[in-house]
Amino acid sequence: MNSIQVTVNTLFALVCALLIGTKSFAEPANLGKLKEEITTYHDSGQYHQEFSAVIQKAQVFIDQVAKENASSKKPKKLALVLDIDETSLSNYPMMKAHRYCATMDQFDEAQRKSKQPALSATRELFEDALKHHIAVFFITGRPNELKKFTEENLNNKGFKGWAAVYYRPAHYKKSSVASFKTHTRELIEQKGYTIVASIGDQESDLSGGHAMQTFKLPNPYYYIP
Ligand SMILES: [Mg+2]
Repeated sequence: MNSIQVTVNTLFALVCALLIGTKSFAEPANLGKLKEEITTYHDSGQYHQEFSAVIQKAQVFIDQVAKENASSKKPKKLALVLDIDETSLSNYPMMKAHRYCATMDQFDEAQRKSKQPALSATRELFEDALKHHIAVFFITGRPNELKKFTEENLNNKGFKGWAAVYYRPAHYKKSSVASFKTHTRELIEQKGYTIVASIGDQESDLSGGHAMQTFKLPNPYYYIP
């Protein structure tokens, strides 16, 4: 074995040793630390700050459309579409109590109490929309069995005067709520409304068109396809 061969073999051995010693798995973010980050994000006020910034953008857009519509020769019937959970009402106290691992039954149990707090920025937007004669519709992934509790909760947290609440039908079995929500916006349009804005905390609240503008709110807690 000549000296060149020895050098090549030595380098090969070094590279192998380095590769074996290198951590090569893609470890996801640590769940315990993520939960702490989520609590800090909410409790520090950053969540509400970012949430309100989105609502503020929606407000500017909606007011502009309402103003133009009011001075139009043929004013349209305008509508605003809102999601409910983490858009209009907050499940945060319950989610935090369950360390962000609440089951569907625990969500259901909490929502049947009709005591979820309002997200105040959205409630102000709601009130402003009504002042501008914009009809407000809620489209929610909640099942129809929660109708009574949901509407009681909306009303007791200051969301009064809405046009309708649409619930996910019992026969709807698709893995994504997107087509239910899109189809419902189409139904609202068929009633003669122009949907100025659709606002939600999930992309599945907003995809599929049938709104002039969409506004995505933050939600670090859960994902709904
Ligand atoms: Mg939601």
